[in-house]
Amino acid sequence: VEADNPYAGKTGLNAFLHVNTEEALSVAAEVDAARESGEDLPELAGVPIAVKDLIVTKGQPTTAASKMLEGWMSPYDGTVTQRLRAARMPMLGKTNLDEFAMGSTTEHSAYGVTRNPWDLTRIPGGSGGGSAAAVTAFQAPLALGTDTGGSIRQPAAVTGSVGVKPTYGSVSRYGVIAMASSLDQVGPCSRTVLDAALLHEVVGGHDPQDSTSLTDPATGFASAARAGAAEGGLKGLRVGVVKELTGEGFQAGVEQRFREAVDLLRSAGAEVVEVETPNFRYALGAYYLIMSSEVSSNLAKYDGVRFGRRTLPTDGNLTIERVMGATRAAGFGAEVKRRTILGTYALSAGYYDAYYGSAQKVRTLVQRDFNAAFEKCDVLISPTAPTTAFPIGSVDEHADPMQMYLNDVATIPTNLAGVPAISLPAGLAPEDGLPVGVQFMAPAREDARLYCAGAGLE
Ligand code: GLN
Repeated sequence: VEADNPYAGKTGLNAFLHVNTEEALSVAAEVDAARESGEDLPELAGVPIAVKDLIVTKGQPTTAASKMLEGWMSPYDGTVTQRLRAARMPMLGKTNLDEFAMGSTTEHSAYGVTRNPWDLTRIPGGSGGGSAAAVTAFQAPLALGTDTGGSIRQPAAVTGSVGVKPTYGSVSRYGVIAMASSLDQVGPCSRTVLDAALLHEVVGGHDPQDSTSLTDPATGFASAARAGAAEGGLKGLRVGVVKELTGEGFQAGVEQRFREAVDLLRSAGAEVVEVETPNFRYALGAYYLIMSSEVSSNLAKYDGVRFGRRTLPTDGNLTIERVMGATRAAGFGAEVKRRTILGTYALSAGYYDAYYGSAQKVRTLVQRDFNAAFEKCDVLISPTAPTTAFPIGSVDEHADPMQMYLNDVATIPTNLAGVPAISLPAGLAPEDGLPVGVQFMAPAREDARLYCAGAGLE
């Protein structure tokens, strides 16, 4: 397969922040030996995997792509990391991201931008651009990402790979550096839908260490993918086209490939209907308030005392507030500061109801839109991102942060509602020859439907 891929093996991507050569090779050798001695091994034993550097790993640094955690080594493994070890998957290393997962381009990493393997002058999406670029360039067959507002799916879309945001609570967040806790979810990055399903089965399932963890077992995803890919696998599947997530603001070639994907579904026997989700138009605004509020609260712990970096004020006046201020001024990048300030303001006394409270109401309305839509269909479909990969440096978000935030318009509603979604490749946009992604969305705890529909369309 690699020989057929013109993007395989491209170097200079800056997909990895840390490469875990020795340990990965020794796990691989152990698996080889076990296999030779006829030991029964888990299905993905020996399959290497890259891990987003927001997930803590014993024995490898974890930075969240921030100067705040430069050189920090976690004393423990996250649940998903423990499960990768139990599955005997060699961990290749830690992948680059926007600092603390805030962004859509990986340009906000404190350790340099990751490049899109399709065109090294373009963004790989974000925040999980490192995981998506590594998978696309055949530097890793699988990777883990995290998705708070689209950070697994939008990078998958713009790199032509597969990315899944599972149902909220379906994969443990224990040992995942929190960005916005009510939205964060870990999920697979891969080159095929079946690969994503197999990885989801490894990392998913109940974890008593995460109070929001569901009790559902993580089974049936791979079999759903195989059923969807089989002859007639999509027959009778009711697919809802989300009216609000097409048209204005979507690049012509993205729209065209999306329409073709819908036609393919129809010709495979799916029943296509149009659904209306009138409150989706408020989702982006609600997300940026809720997310920023939770960011300001979650990142308060980086105080120069408990974790990572400590920067002392140069005048020697060392009160706790001034050490905290100097540490946060030096340790956080501009985007993290912007969101922390916005969130702190939104949560402050006198504004809480007007901002955070209203945003939570919108969140409920978005959930109701999903519920109503899923009465008419099994899965929803939309483009994953409004455009293909744009050139690095082309969005001046200091002048206009909204322009960057608009990238997330199609991915955010699912995070607000906690429902699962998958992005998969839908061909190249005719005008620029770059990958386009489409996403399926399913009701909560119906992740198997994504694998069925995704593998059927793939
Ligand atoms: N692009 C979104 C943001 O900047 C998504 C982030 C994410 O999913 N981690 O908030």
